[in-house]
Amino acid sequence: MNTKQIVDLSHPLIPGKTSRKFNIQQVGAETVAPVQRLADQWYIMHNIEMVNHIGTHVEMPYHLRRDGADLLEFPVERTLGPARVLDIGSPPPGTAVGLDDLKQAARRAGGVQPGEVVLVRTGWSDRFDTPEYLKSPWFRAEGLSWLVDQGMVMLGVESGGVEELSSTTHESHYALFDRGVPLIENLANMQALGDRKQVICVCTPLAIGGLEAFPIRVLAILDPWTLGSPSWFRTRLVKRPVPPHGGSQAGG
Ligand SMILES: [Zn+2]
Repeated sequence: MNTKQIVDLSHPLIPGKTSRKFNIQQVGAETVAPVQRLADQWYIMHNIEMVNHIGTHVEMPYHLRRDGADLLEFPVERTLGPARVLDIGSPPPGTAVGLDDLKQAARRAGGVQPGEVVLVRTGWSDRFDTPEYLKSPWFRAEGLSWLVDQGMVMLGVESGGVEELSSTTHESHYALFDRGVPLIENLANMQALGDRKQVICVCTPLAIGGLEAFPIRVLAILDPWTLGSPSWFRTRLVKRPVPPHGGSQAGG
């Protein structure tokens, strides 16, 4: 049994060492803001150039739906709260995780409750950034639809996606995005959860209008003061209005 209270479920991101573009350029703070910097004073800022799908990141419905929620529009209260951990063992490369696999894992975890985030363990994160990582297990659409039927509000997986790599119809993505459920890809460190089936998950992205994805820090809080209902968390948030991002003009 793990005694730590918070588990980091994200891969570290090191600029210049990721397989996808992620470059940073250091600049003096005085080049950005009206501040005074002495000649040798360490007072820095950065310009960043990156692909937004790198490392552990969340994909919003806007990724494959022109009318889907972006990072700013997605209800922030669904990005933290109780999460159910579904363990489907150590599936071999290319395994199609189906409806029965998810149902059985959910049963072992005490069932998926409405409003929960679902984190799926496959052990695949050990292969992150290796050629074998692409041969990850994938998830049939009917199983994902069933999880959405149970009331799942976000899904996290230990691989680079939920889709069979050769898919052109992207049914597994649509099973989530058509019903407003974002997908967290490239979870890490799931073994640190031990045999936990319930944690409190914090997977809140930056509120960036017009973007469909961004890296996030995913934290699992073990043994919180209470494993309350999803509504306990959500009724304690002060919400603010979210302007539209103009999805009709932007590309899908
Ligand atoms: Zn992605």
